[in-house]
Amino acid sequence: MQHPKSDQSSGFKKLIKFITFVNMPIKEKFILFFFGVLFWFMVMFAISIASSIVIDKKTDEIVNHLVPHERITHKIIRKLQALRTDMSEIGSISGVKEFDSKLDLAQARVSDIRSFIQVLSAGGQAIDINRDDNKILETITVIPAHDDVEKNAYIESLKEYIDSFESKLGEVSEIKKAALLGNGNEYERLREKIEDSKFILSNAISLSNNFSITEASLYSLHSGNIRAVTKFMPYTFIAVLLVSSTLLIIFSISISRAIARPVKAIIEQIRSVGEGRVDITNKIRVSSKDEIGVLTQDFNDLMEEIHDLSTFKKVIEEDDSVEDVYSRIAGVFEKFGLDNHIIYEISNSQNKMKPVFPIILNENAINCNPDILHDCALCKVKKTGHMISSFNYPDICKQFKTGLDKIHVCLPMIISGSVGGVVQFLFDKKYYNLAGQDRRIYKVEQYLSEAVPVVEAKRLMNTLRESALKDALTGLYNRRFLQEYTETLIAGVLRRKKNIGLIMCDLDYFKQVNDIYGHNVGDSVLKTTSQIISQCVRNSDLVIRFGGEEFLVITLDIEENEAVDIAEKIRKTLEDTKIKVFDGMIKKTISLGISEFPKDTDSFWQAIKYADVALYNAKETGRNKTVRFTPDMWTESEF
Ligand code: GH3
Ligand code: MG
Ligand code: MG
Repeated sequence: MQHPKSDQSSGFKKLIKFITFVNMPIKEKFILFFFGVLFWFMVMFAISIASSIVIDKKTDEIVNHLVPHERITHKIIRKLQALRTDMSEIGSISGVKEFDSKLDLAQARVSDIRSFIQVLSAGGQAIDINRDDNKILETITVIPAHDDVEKNAYIESLKEYIDSFESKLGEVSEIKKAALLGNGNEYERLREKIEDSKFILSNAISLSNNFSITEASLYSLHSGNIRAVTKFMPYTFIAVLLVSSTLLIIFSISISRAIARPVKAIIEQIRSVGEGRVDITNKIRVSSKDEIGVLTQDFNDLMEEIHDLSTFKKVIEEDDSVEDVYSRIAGVFEKFGLDNHIIYEISNSQNKMKPVFPIILNENAINCNPDILHDCALCKVKKTGHMISSFNYPDICKQFKTGLDKIHVCLPMIISGSVGGVVQFLFDKKYYNLAGQDRRIYKVEQYLSEAVPVVEAKRLMNTLRESALKDALTGLYNRRFLQEYTETLIAGVLRRKKNIGLIMCDLDYFKQVNDIYGHNVGDSVLKTTSQIISQCVRNSDLVIRFGGEEFLVITLDIEENEAVDIAEKIRKTLEDTKIKVFDGMIKKTISLGISEFPKDTDSFWQAIKYADVALYNAKETGRNKTVRFTPDMWTESEF
């Protein structure tokens, strides 16, 4: 069951990865970052534009409509109130002249009101009346007609009131004038008309008041809006700033984690490699799928390869034999899936090559013409010193005989400046993939170049060892070899419960050869003798040059009397052999003494002594003979 918290946190991590574009290529990451920043600038810009449009519209409404409307309405109200006062006074006027002037004044006020109505409907501002210039108002600004239902309704109603007031004023003036001239006395009617006109004016005043109140409330509504916008604009800016800067911080942290952290770790690792420390336990975490992620992964792989290579080198250095090293190299080939391979060792001094891993005893079982084993100059890699691949040229090497459905890639192992080994890989043509193989072969070459110095050192050691254990003149093993291998020999024979036959051989009158023909002929007689002895014994037997012209043959796991037969065979062969000297041929004979271990004694060195005693006996009793040791030959006092 999954833990809900870990689910949440992995979801959160996914979200962070998504908004910080962690897995995008670096270039796209920064392009998106640029557009992100641009987006937030646009948001701020849009907020300020929207706010200023709102403020501008509301201010325009206030400055160009509501305030002028209110001012004109107040003027209208003042005029209406003055008219109402005029009408109250008009009833008690007694002089004609006085009445006329009052009437003129009332009519002037009506005319003012009409002018105000005009200004109001056209849209504009009025200034106060200047009586002296007889200029009652001035339009300062003319605003395009504002489609205002309230205002238009007010103007229409006010006009109607003014019209009906004017007609009432006409009636009042007629009745009053008649009364003043004494042509009538209709006081009651006059009073009624005056009251009517005052009523009309009162209605107009209350209408104007209502309109003024409406405009005032609109004014406070708009200014409230402006205040709200100016008040909230900074908060909006702060909120946007907070969101955008939070995103920016998250982005920066993740960028620094995804870029700076692995790069720093890589630098540290490179330094430690420079100081000779390769620590693959401390792998760098791959936290993104961008170029840095790829770099980190590749770096980790590289470190692992370096580590594997250096470990490989250490391991093969500690291997005991060059054969172990070959087997480890083969292990590396298998690790890279190169299963079909042969490692050849080249002996430049003998112009030979032989398969050392896997060991192939049947010469015809190799993939090439078996002649290359005896004349390695036939091998194309040996000849050219570089890689030979049959991928592009199927018959590039004439010695390859396995068939055209196979591809061979052969690599040289350069030892001491010349080709000291060849590695051959075989692929099925059907499954061959050039890029894949190239990569694997490149890796294998790295391992080979690490292994070559070790192979060289081990082969050199082998040569040195061989030379220390072998006699230079005859190529036989020397006494030192016997000393080193005695224990192994004895252990094997005792385990198998078998006997070792020891044949001690000594040329008869050898000194004479030196004396008559010289030392060189003596040497060649020794060589011939050593070859004859080697030919007379089995491959598993050992022939040792024991002393000057003394040889010890160690025949392993012998049956009853077998050693005597072998000794006889040696003796007879030499007896029948003509050895070439400058002016002809000579013949030599040999005496042989035989003992068996552990049949005769359980001490190996004692058994050798017994063989020597038997040899002494052979010399004593006539030479050119084979004598089997018998206990009666052993007289402690003599030896
Ligand atoms: P015997 O039948 O009693 O064995 O007689 P022999 O002459 O073989 O006896 P001896 O052991 O006295 O002589 C051995 C000689 O072998 C002495 C030495 O000059 C010679 N010799 C030993 N090593 C070499 C060598 O490496 N080359 C040559 N040419 N002669 C050697
Ligand atoms: Mg001797
Ligand atoms: Mg001798």
